[in-house]
Amino acid sequence: MNVYLETYGCQMNEYDSQLIRSILISGGYRLASSQEEADVVLVNTCAIRENAHRKIYSRLDQFRPVKKAMKKAGRPFVVGVLGCMAQNLKEDLFAHPVVSLIAGPDNYRSLPKLIDRAAKSGDREMDAYLSEYETYDDIAPTRVTGVNAWVAIMRGCDNFCTFCVVPYTRGRERSRSMAGIVAEVESLAEGGCPQVTLLGQNVNSYKDGSAIFSDLIAGVADIPGIRRVRFTSPHPKDFPRPLLETIAGHPHICKHIHLPLQAGSSRILELMGRTYTIEEYLNLVDEIRACIPGVTLTTDVIVGFPTETEEEFGETVRVMRQVEFDNAYIFKYSERKGTIASRRYPDDIPPDVKTDRIVRLFDLQRAISLKRNQARIGETLSVLIEGDAERKPGYQMGKTDGHITTIFPSASHLPGSLVFVEITGATQGTLLGKVVHS
Ligand code: SF4
Repeated sequence: MNVYLETYGCQMNEYDSQLIRSILISGGYRLASSQEEADVVLVNTCAIRENAHRKIYSRLDQFRPVKKAMKKAGRPFVVGVLGCMAQNLKEDLFAHPVVSLIAGPDNYRSLPKLIDRAAKSGDREMDAYLSEYETYDDIAPTRVTGVNAWVAIMRGCDNFCTFCVVPYTRGRERSRSMAGIVAEVESLAEGGCPQVTLLGQNVNSYKDGSAIFSDLIAGVADIPGIRRVRFTSPHPKDFPRPLLETIAGHPHICKHIHLPLQAGSSRILELMGRTYTIEEYLNLVDEIRACIPGVTLTTDVIVGFPTETEEEFGETVRVMRQVEFDNAYIFKYSERKGTIASRRYPDDIPPDVKTDRIVRLFDLQRAISLKRNQARIGETLSVLIEGDAERKPGYQMGKTDGHITTIFPSASHLPGSLVFVEITGATQGTLLGKVVHS
């Protein structure tokens, strides 16, 4: 049978889809390159915001006529929902007429069995329980090779931030073996992949026996052929000095840290269950910048968390003015079914107030990003080439060590090569320059 797999959401889902492909191939299934040639369609979903849900329900509706036509032709057509939404909303999803299979993020090994049963019997099949042990450490992902490879080093999260659904959809934290991760990265390097991004919901709480995150990232960065190592997403509570020194001291570990802030008010941070105060967060920013000169900092911010006052929103504005992040991912609070916040705090900030606050933060961050990028004009930065610049013929693009998109006149360098670019111009999101040497 031909299986078509669609992926929504974060890098963790992208990585999981690579694992799913391997599980399907070893289960004897063929991977279809389009939905039209598929007997089975699997949708790997995200549960992080309402918008993600809406997208999936409208996608499922599109399969109604296909299912009807396949039934009329006497052919099985299995539609399966995977990922975080499947884990969180399994009963709701089973209410949708086209859905015949549900599997949670810890249950992908049973996919071949579930598909086979659903196709043969036409019955509905579900496997969606959270595991304390599953890390898929023995499964080699089926990847499309590129300049960067996602490598999941752990699964789940123990932090229970009150707005977040991840602990309920991906379970408790468990780390893969360091040996398994190093072996995976070694085979990537042998295949010519120059950069890896280490993935986890709370990546810097990685632990395998006595090995902790700083040991792992240094071990991976030492692998011959690996020129850059990145990681996402960390939690501010897990940045001990030795980790900062490891990042600062290793030429292959990128000097970019994504440091989710979420809010500028300590009262709101406490309601969010973030385990740090704004003073502690700002002290960490200072320590990171002192320890890693020239580091780029990006962040996540939520506006309109329940009971957030205009003054407390003002504190978020003040912190973003003070820190001057290179970039920020800003979201409106979106109540998620099953989270602590959904049980404790009514979603009392009106939608237009959330919109007003997010627009003001976007405007502020755009100005800050532009200012920080303009300050790089005249510098020469190393850029890992990803390919041709989509919207600028004759130009190539890549990312600096600090993860800033950079474009320059093409000198036909191969993707994956490192070049040194003198920065001659900047916009809020992009640096412009010319290759000075490679
Ligand atoms: S650290 Fe918090 S926000 Fe991040 S995945 Fe865990 S619970 Fe969610």
